[in-house]
Amino acid sequence: MIDLHCHTLHSDGTDSPEGLALLGDQARLTALCLTDHDTLGGIPAFLAMQSQVKVRLLVGTELSCRFLGQSLHVLGLLVDPLDARFQARLEELRGRRDDRNRRMLVRLAELGCPVTYEEVQAQADSPLLSRVHFAMALAARGYVRRPPEAFERLIGDNCPGFVPREELSPADAALWIREAGGVPVVAHPGRFGGRGFRWDEAMAELQRQGLEGLEGYYGEYLAAEQKYFMALAARLGMVVTGGSDYHGANKPGLRLGRGRGGLQVPDELLEQLEDRQQQGAH
Ligand code: AMP
Ligand code: MN
Ligand code: MN
Ligand code: MN
Repeated sequence: MIDLHCHTLHSDGTDSPEGLALLGDQARLTALCLTDHDTLGGIPAFLAMQSQVKVRLLVGTELSCRFLGQSLHVLGLLVDPLDARFQARLEELRGRRDDRNRRMLVRLAELGCPVTYEEVQAQADSPLLSRVHFAMALAARGYVRRPPEAFERLIGDNCPGFVPREELSPADAALWIREAGGVPVVAHPGRFGGRGFRWDEAMAELQRQGLEGLEGYYGEYLAAEQKYFMALAARLGMVVTGGSDYHGANKPGLRLGRGRGGLQVPDELLEQLEDRQQQGAH
């Protein structure tokens, strides 16, 4: 059993990279890929744990893209953590995130909920600030009772305090990831689109833009969704990956490797992913 999608406190999770590696071992996983948003900041500490754990530790990241007017997440699996150009590109993305965050502070003040950059930073254990940390800062100030209420009223995608980031195109994300030796994969396609959205044509379009795989196993999928995405990947010739999207205490109830309980991502998906990575290298 493997898990190719999870987060640490280097983005919006709550575990340290070291703790996550140990947790992967405890869960008896054969491989674990760390995929923090927009950063490889947790990777050195994560990889340094390899001598202490049996689980194979792998490198990844998760990028936010714009597709059909919505936010689409793309995983960069098996990227080279020492690729300087990729690191610079990630740094540019973090700059865009920081601009967005500063504009969100202005918007929140206009809405009568002023918080400072320092108050948001105080909720995070790393420099990367996400809306999860905004939600905690808003709760700490007493504007909302609990962080989820901040997403309902203030900073959720359709709320007045939300400011979108300048996001990448899926084509650029795919190119960046491939140039860093990784495999670009559509993250949790089941979370994209509204009721009745049909993925068939949209996924073929993403494939034309360079996406090579899709998450067919996911911590929060229903059995029918898993079946649908597996069939779609087979039809298009895309690789299937899978993971829990574990965030520690920031997504309660989601367990590493197991998701809500029933997740089981087979080992052979990693072999297929590595085959695809090799093909890309030629
Ligand atoms: P950001 O990348 O800063 O825009 O923040 C995105 C993160 O906020 C996601 O990874 C989720 O962890 C969290 N998030 C977004 N929308 C919601 C929501 N409606 N409820 C709870 N968490 C959310
Ligand atoms: Mn997240
Ligand atoms: Mn995501
Ligand atoms: Mn994720």
